[in-house]
Amino acid sequence: MARIAVIGAGMGALAAAARLAVAGHRVVVYERTDTYGGALRRFERDGFSFDTGPGLLPLPAVYRDLFVKTGKEPLEACVDLVQVDPSSRHVFADGTEVSLPNASRAGVVAALDEALGSGTGARWGDFLVRAREAWDRTRRPLLEEPLWPNWQVLAEREPYPAVPHKRLLRTRRAGTLAEVAAWELRDARLAALLEGHAIAHGLDPRSTPASAAVLPYLEHAFGTWYVRGGLRELARAVYERCVARRVEFRFGAEVSGCWRRTAGPRGGTRRRDGGRGGVRGRRGRARHAGPADGGARGAGCRGRAATAPAAGRLTVLLALRGGRPEGTAHRTVVHAADREAELEALFGTAERNSRPTVTILRPDDPALVPDPDHEAVTLRAVVPRVPKSPTTTSSKA
Ligand SMILES: Cc1cc2nc3c(=O)[nH]c(=O)nc-3n(C[C@H](O)[C@H](O)[C@H](O)COP(=O)(O)OP(=O)(O)OC[C@H]3O[C@@H](n4cnc5c(N)ncnc54)[C@H](O)[C@@H]3O)c2cc1C
Repeated sequence: MARIAVIGAGMGALAAAARLAVAGHRVVVYERTDTYGGALRRFERDGFSFDTGPGLLPLPAVYRDLFVKTGKEPLEACVDLVQVDPSSRHVFADGTEVSLPNASRAGVVAALDEALGSGTGARWGDFLVRAREAWDRTRRPLLEEPLWPNWQVLAEREPYPAVPHKRLLRTRRAGTLAEVAAWELRDARLAALLEGHAIAHGLDPRSTPASAAVLPYLEHAFGTWYVRGGLRELARAVYERCVARRVEFRFGAEVSGCWRRTAGPRGGTRRRDGGRGGVRGRRGRARHAGPADGGARGAGCRGRAATAPAAGRLTVLLALRGGRPEGTAHRTVVHAADREAELEALFGTAERNSRPTVTILRPDDPALVPDPDHEAVTLRAVVPRVPKSPTTTSSKA
């Protein structure tokens, strides 16, 4: 048994903590805020309740697996999971609308053919078949095996099997999502469907690898899910699983660094308040492993490199009078009026984009409203992370 410190109580850390505890280790989670769940937060007021982080759950199998491996009660016994159907409604720049059924390739193909024109469904369906191949190649190294020390396992060969595309005298294969959209989907609305998956994560489709095609594939293959009461309920369930497995929590404890004492048997974390948490490390010389919030690939910490995300998210919470109309889609995506303007504003030099892609979430969930005559609606848009004003671009000006 080892003593293990886990930094942060986000979903990734909670899942790791529960598994480590089941493996027999003594686990302490240090979280700088006063609660668990990380991005899965909730805002409540006057009987309304809103998820301020993700509002939908892709790939619940990951959580099913976590619950099976960390206790007796399955996921479904701990949260109320429901499929969202239609998976999403899309409104495109030219005014075309389409509702995509949940987890049904045939249904999606038929809906696209009807709304966007004959042949579009088949093109999207063929794309999903290729995306599935990318998923088959990436699933094990990304989700089912320990982190690789390098990513050559994926980089040796682009996992997405792009269709050869003749351009002037050369034959090329799409290497980015934008190229997949332009060369294989060949329809601005299908392109918006695909590129929207990258933009929603703050990624530029012009540089996002083609293998990110797995994102729409996952949605179509495994469905879109909602947790009744809001996604925060999932965080509660995972937190309670940790507590049941005797994971200890220290809230309000920001970790400012971590080290591994390689000369002795112990390493540890350093908290902002000066306190320390000890953990067992390997023998050897003491080495400082860098700050905990980035660049922490050193001796004692395993973490992400400090890379600033290109974009941020703007979330608007609407507590509305009037009940939710019958048949309202849970998720509507109103795509940007002008793709180039959106990409330029998010990843280029443009000051702003007046009509960005907006996602509207309207869950059919009585737990979110004070009574049936009100509705809790969330609007979300990906926006440039830092305002591009002269005062913020140069501190010496
Ligand atoms: C508005 C919004 C919408 C999203 N929508 C989707 C979606 O639709 N689909 C999807 O797949 N994903 C979505 N995401 C992303 C998803 O929520 C995150 O990828 C996921 O929750 C990240 O989990 P995490 O555990 O890695 O990190 P986080 O949730 O960021 O948790 C990190 C935790 O660590 C704590 N911490 C950090 N540094 C320290 C330190 N030094 N000491 C102590 N504690 C520390 C933080 O306080 C935080 O609690 C969305 C995110 C947001 C914000």
